[in-house]
Amino acid sequence: MMLLEHDAKTVLAEHGVPVPQGFLTSSVSDEPPFDFPWVVKAQVPVGGRGKAGGIVVARNRDEYDKALERLLGSVLLGHRVRHCRIEAAVTGQECYLAIILDASTARVTVLASELGGIDVENHAAEGMRSEKVDYTQPAVLAAIESLAGQFNTPVANAMRDVGKKLCNAFFERELMLAEINPLFVLADGTWVAADAKVVIDDNAIDRQPYLHALLTERSADYEAANVKLTHGFDFVKLDDLGDVGLVTTGAGLSMQLVDELQRQGCRPYNFCDIRTGQFRGQPDRLIDALQWMAQAPSVKVVLMNFFAGVTDLAELAKLMLIALERTPQLRAPVIVRIVGNGIDSAKAIFAAAPVPLTIETDLDIAVSRVVAIARGHSGTSPTTSHTKAVA
Ligand code: GDP
Ligand code: MN
Repeated sequence: MMLLEHDAKTVLAEHGVPVPQGFLTSSVSDEPPFDFPWVVKAQVPVGGRGKAGGIVVARNRDEYDKALERLLGSVLLGHRVRHCRIEAAVTGQECYLAIILDASTARVTVLASELGGIDVENHAAEGMRSEKVDYTQPAVLAAIESLAGQFNTPVANAMRDVGKKLCNAFFERELMLAEINPLFVLADGTWVAADAKVVIDDNAIDRQPYLHALLTERSADYEAANVKLTHGFDFVKLDDLGDVGLVTTGAGLSMQLVDELQRQGCRPYNFCDIRTGQFRGQPDRLIDALQWMAQAPSVKVVLMNFFAGVTDLAELAKLMLIALERTPQLRAPVIVRIVGNGIDSAKAIFAAAPVPLTIETDLDIAVSRVVAIARGHSGTSPTTSHTKAVA
């Protein structure tokens, strides 16, 4: 599950990552104990708050009060804002640094860019550097060192320093995603993490008393944010009016998918990390997921994304078919992106799906199909675009 920014910063700061001075508030009366300007940041467990108006730089007391009055209690990106984090505002160069676990391959991707900020996706190709390594601390540290070396000082120093600390937090807390965007590199050559996105592994909470205590202390916020932990997999509603339902696996990859869909103008209904390895032949969790989505009239299309390393896709397809058959109320077309063992058998099984179902192996193509349907530009209605199990 994804932590709120305030908690993500607490987790990273404990490992030495420098974060701006800040505190959490749920009322308008608090006077921040530091100088103007302040940043007022809505605490909802989803990215893209800046673009949605959830991040306000307040230059004086009046702007501060107005920002809090507007944000507290409002619904932002499908979540009620119960708290805002107030921070001393910083200015500088906005960089990007992330460590992402790909659970299906047990590999880790390290991403770094000196062109961070809310438009990071737009210049991803030109500015983003990445390395994919094994899930070991020395391998990730080496990747950070090699990436940092490709930037000039002081950005290189910032990446090296924050990268090491992020890496320690990533391994010690068994994180699935640790992202800093923006990492501000200031004019005086110092640096500070202005935003932090952390996805924890629910299965690790029992082994992580620190995370357990943090979540318990803030349970009201997480419950209010619609975070469901009861199924043993991550299912977070992102947007009450979302148009794309997601049945996906891999927390980091699923986060990226949510970001990409939002970038292309869609409103993902949920975040999902369904963990195919834990199905053990039972379709129950898939049925739960589909029935939950079928209740949302705004969901126009369902995207399933699985790539099987160990799992046999034919087995997965059988379970998905059962789940689709047991969810007759689901009307939305389904786009399935699968790569891996048994893909031909999986296609044959999916041919019997009770809804329009399209199979793609290329993620970009799958996403563009989803975007077209969500925006109503598919050209054909779901019933006529009956492209079942394209060979
Ligand atoms: P997100 O949109 O949910 O990722 O929220 P962020 O915390 O990243 O805030 C969005 C954007 O607001 C950032 O990319 C920055 O450009 C800007 N921002 C956030 N904090 C500060 C700050 O302290 N100072 C300044 N100048 N900009 C900030
Ligand atoms: Mn951010």
